[in-house]
Amino acid sequence: MEVEASPSPSHVLPSAAQLSQALLELHKQLPSTGLGLDATQQHLTQDVAPALNANSQSSRYYGFVTGGATPAAVFADNMVTEYDQNVQVHLPHETIATDVEAAALDMVCDLVDLDSKAWNHRLFTTGATASNVLGLACAREYIIKTAAARNGVMADVSSQGLFAAMQAAGINNIQILTSMPHSSLRKAASIVGLGHASVRDVGNHAAHAPHRFDLQALELALQESTNIASIIAISCSEVNSGLFATDADDMLALRKLANQYGAWLHVDAAFGLLARILPSKPEYELLKHGVSSLELADSIAADAHKLFNVPYDCGIFLSRHLDLATAVFQNPGAPYLNAAAGSVPSPLNIGIENSRRFRALPLYANLVAYGRQGFVDMLERQIALARKIAAYMHSSDAYQLLPPSSQQGDQTYTSIFIIVLFKAVDPVLNAALVRKINATRKIYVSGTSWQSEPACRFAISNWRSSVEKDWEVIKAVLDDVAAGTDV
Ligand SMILES: *Cc1c(COP(=O)(O)O)cnc(C)c1O
Repeated sequence: MEVEASPSPSHVLPSAAQLSQALLELHKQLPSTGLGLDATQQHLTQDVAPALNANSQSSRYYGFVTGGATPAAVFADNMVTEYDQNVQVHLPHETIATDVEAAALDMVCDLVDLDSKAWNHRLFTTGATASNVLGLACAREYIIKTAAARNGVMADVSSQGLFAAMQAAGINNIQILTSMPHSSLRKAASIVGLGHASVRDVGNHAAHAPHRFDLQALELALQESTNIASIIAISCSEVNSGLFATDADDMLALRKLANQYGAWLHVDAAFGLLARILPSKPEYELLKHGVSSLELADSIAADAHKLFNVPYDCGIFLSRHLDLATAVFQNPGAPYLNAAAGSVPSPLNIGIENSRRFRALPLYANLVAYGRQGFVDMLERQIALARKIAAYMHSSDAYQLLPPSSQQGDQTYTSIFIIVLFKAVDPVLNAALVRKINATRKIYVSGTSWQSEPACRFAISNWRSSVEKDWEVIKAVLDDVAAGTDV
């Protein structure tokens, strides 16, 4: 049976025919005698590959926030597979792997202007969700310990467990105070035993800025009871709108409140973190405000498989409390896993996994290959494309840029980072908008909802993206969909 060639860069999705063909060819039963390497390779490249999407390979896939994979990162990722290192114990006389991980994390700190000495608990994770889990696990330990100390007793979750530690500390509830959190924060809250209900949105709805904190409401929540311990979680670029929860003044206010009430400050900067590398130009001023003073936080979650453009999966976790990490994540009673003494903590004792993939290498390669300037160039191209789309939406009769206040009086769209949220003015078109745009297979966007209405969003996150390469295609699709000439 003939199978169409794998999707060209002009198609971001496989066709329906390619998908159903691939499904027919899939082996669904374990063969008693294997096919062998050659036949399997042929099966993968001819049957499976054509039915994969081009989320990484195309500059015109704008769904979720997926990033791409640079040639340097792809090269390194293949090496990771080839050498198959297990990066759990620091064994500097046996493999350079943990030193590479440490160097990559140092360079990340340098790139985003965080002092790597202060951020002494650093590691690569499987993604921002895992980093949010780590952040909440550290936070939970800290706030219970702090509450106990304030009551003149000792308690810690890592040895006593959450229930006993809370009782010992005189705490009967834990709340996570946030504004427009990413869904993974609630998932992380569930995993670490705090529950979805612990997440309280104290966004500033009164000022029509739900992504920003209502600092008064936040302080009232902190004051509510001395029996409640609090974690403050900052959405450092909200996933639907790309807007930032805080600025430098807010961060200072939050730090003071956290100190006063024994709370922990966690930042979810999955894709926002890279805004810290932007040069000081007026067009980036608002974005730079959104990521300023993050050094006042206790922990930061970020993704490398998004804007850093390494292959899945790679997340980043940074915290300033290595002492807590070694309490929470210590792999106890396994003397055969003892590390050599040294300046690099063994990853297994400061994170979730024991055995781990050498996922540091692709990011290491990216940082070495492209340097600071390479990352700045990439991000500037992405922002320029996002702002070009925003300007089109604003001047279009068929579409409306969201949220409506974000573009008032600002013809340069300086609040736009790498996300453009919009809807079709005609409700009938709006209900079908995402499907119609994606059915062209020329570009791909994500559907979401904004103020209970269907909405649509572009997330520009691929290293290949640029106005020159992509704008004409995007414009043609949007024009056609608006005019009903898209079929
Ligand atoms: C993508 C994202 C996450 C989750 O990251 P994963 O890498 O999918 O685990 C969390 N927070 C924000 C703001 C995100 O954009």
